[in-house]
Amino acid sequence: MIVQMKKGSTKREYEKLIEFLKSKKLDIMDASSDEVRVFGIIGDTTSIDPSDLYAFEGVKEVTRVSTPFKKASRSFKKSDTIIKIGNDIEIGGDQFVMMAGPCSVESEEQLRIIAKAVKKAGATLLRGGAYKPRTSPYAFQGLELEGLKLLRKIGDEVGLKIVTEIPSADLLPLFEEYVDVIQVGARNMQNFHLMKALGKSTKPILLKRGLSATIEEWLMSAEYIMAGGNEQVILCERGIRTYEKYTRNTLDISAVLAVKELSHLPVIIDPSHAAGRWNMIEKLSLASLAVGSHGLIVEVHHDPEHALSDGAQSLKLPKFAAMMDELEKVAVVLGKKLR
Ligand code: PEP
Ligand code: MN
Repeated sequence: MIVQMKKGSTKREYEKLIEFLKSKKLDIMDASSDEVRVFGIIGDTTSIDPSDLYAFEGVKEVTRVSTPFKKASRSFKKSDTIIKIGNDIEIGGDQFVMMAGPCSVESEEQLRIIAKAVKKAGATLLRGGAYKPRTSPYAFQGLELEGLKLLRKIGDEVGLKIVTEIPSADLLPLFEEYVDVIQVGARNMQNFHLMKALGKSTKPILLKRGLSATIEEWLMSAEYIMAGGNEQVILCERGIRTYEKYTRNTLDISAVLAVKELSHLPVIIDPSHAAGRWNMIEKLSLASLAVGSHGLIVEVHHDPEHALSDGAQSLKLPKFAAMMDELEKVAVVLGKKLR
């Protein structure tokens, strides 16, 4: 972090700030000249917010030169983090991991039909919401605990690991019992109380990017989980809110590249909540593979017209299988293992 003092600021103002920084166990490298008083702050600056330094009189400008996140940062750990799920699934390496299933768990029969089909097509994780964060309180809210139990039952029966969204920290013991990967929904990405609780979890966390979150804010949420002791964080780009209304959200495909530069954590894409339209999913999935995403989470339904949520963006079973065949062609060229 570099601090420049105002022209005409006093020696006392400068000394007060230096005293404060030294009390935080930081070192100072002075680079002042006759013209300008400027210095660098050396050490772990993650505990200070640059904007707080403007509270000190005489401060003209504070500039960050390192990231505010540490454990999630590529400069902290150079090699890619690979997260294991069960014996066979590895996210962050050469596998292109496919997570697929309905938006919501609706019934045992529905989940079984979809799970069998996505397994046959080559998916390795079954997705499905049991606790649904709906925009309207009158919309289907999910089967809750029954949904978790169904996911576990069908996942085991069909041979798929399961990923599902946790709505609040008090449900963590249940999720520890039933779930393989705990999903944090976009709306909860900055629920720091939940992030702290997940820091104590033993399960990998699929951290969706918030609706309007910057990449830095998203990585700060990952940092919360990691700082709590759980380093198994998988990032998920799911589209961000922009002025464009044609699609549900705008898929920020460059976020994959940005995250891979800034962090060692794996990153996957959710094209379903990004596009909001089933007919765009295949092409966005191919683009995700090409850009270097470590996998996908895709909504699939046997009867989207009658789905209780997100039917418009859900792929029918044959369309999902056909998409897997298309992905396979590109995966081979890129040296990625799809199935
Ligand atoms: C979901 O995956 O079911 C979901 C609600 O997604 P998001 O949190 O990205 O909106
Ligand atoms: Mn959905």
